[in-house]
Amino acid sequence: MADKNSKQPLNVPGAWYVDTTCTMCRTCLEEAPNLLKTNDDETAVYFAKQPEGDAETAAAQRSMEVCPTLAIGNDG
Ligand code: SF4
Repeated sequence: MADKNSKQPLNVPGAWYVDTTCTMCRTCLEEAPNLLKTNDDETAVYFAKQPEGDAETAAAQRSMEVCPTLAIGNDG
């Protein structure tokens, strides 16, 4: 389970976040490419946009489900 006390600081404010256990496998980027981004030196993934509406929320949910390190969370 993702840890809200270890959020990647780049996440935009809101319920969804990536924590610091991300291993940069990139699997989540395929599920929610309009929400999740990598930083410039490609050492971290973060929520660049919080999901809005059912389709984006479903994409965020899928990204959470595919993350092998359980680094994606929702504390909303
Ligand atoms: S799926 Fe999880 S571990 Fe892989 S890049 Fe995304 S947040 Fe990081």
